[in-house]
Amino acid sequence: MPELPEVETIARGVDARVRGDRIVEAWFGTHREPFKTPAARQADELRERQIVAVHRTGKHIVVELGGNNDGHSRKKPALGQDSAITAQWIVHLGMTGRLLVTTPEAPLAKHTHARLRLASGRELRFVDPRRFGRLEFRDLRKRQGFSGPGAEPLVIEQAEFAELFRGRKLAIKAALLNQSLLAGVGNIYADEGLFRAGIRPRRRAGQLTRVELEKLRRALREVLERAIRLGGSSVSDYLDAEGVRGFFQLEHCVYQRTGEPCIQCGHTIKRIVVAGRSTHYCSHCQR
Ligand SMILES: [Zn+2]
Repeated sequence: MPELPEVETIARGVDARVRGDRIVEAWFGTHREPFKTPAARQADELRERQIVAVHRTGKHIVVELGGNNDGHSRKKPALGQDSAITAQWIVHLGMTGRLLVTTPEAPLAKHTHARLRLASGRELRFVDPRRFGRLEFRDLRKRQGFSGPGAEPLVIEQAEFAELFRGRKLAIKAALLNQSLLAGVGNIYADEGLFRAGIRPRRRAGQLTRVELEKLRRALREVLERAIRLGGSSVSDYLDAEGVRGFFQLEHCVYQRTGEPCIQCGHTIKRIVVAGRSTHYCSHCQR
């Protein structure tokens, strides 16, 4: 499952390649699962729209779209009008989803559910073997823009972060994985963040001190930003926007290092299960 840094890396990669491009034609597959908005409607709505920008919100990739697709005028918008965002195409990669920028001639991967032909000659493709990914179209003249339910771990401020956990009885690890509190923090970065902050995963979220919470906020941001800088971790079969396998393996401190010595103190890394997820920590460095 791609985590925040992978999604951020993919969103940036796609943005760099398709920003300003125009969707000429959209084709969607026949499997129902990946389409939160019916495939036929997406195909119709996306046609002739300009891609204003692509960015990440939580673990979603949001394609901001311009152009006025009202069924009457499918002309290219006049100069100066084309940067107004009127719609969004929202991509959730699920477990195995990939968003690829390619050319129309590139061999079609099995399980390709969407192809957007672009004016530049490129093609944007959504491939997802297990079909847990989701594609949604939103008309911003009728609905609010997409915003994840949780706060963004990369930008959240100290007070707001502390407020998220106040009075909560669940384990801090479980709280970190709760997407309605913080958006996009998955198992790897929760474990790594807690290690760097020196906090045991089973501590009650509401009982962490202000100082500990601030350490945790900074640790999470650090570990996420580091992974983004390095192009995302390649633990899963993550591929970047051009379909190139991730070149980097984040050197995890605790994640999946059960039984190995802690890099800080040499004690053995332990594995427990919290909120149904494998959880790795050092009982000496984390209190
Ligand atoms: Zn240690």
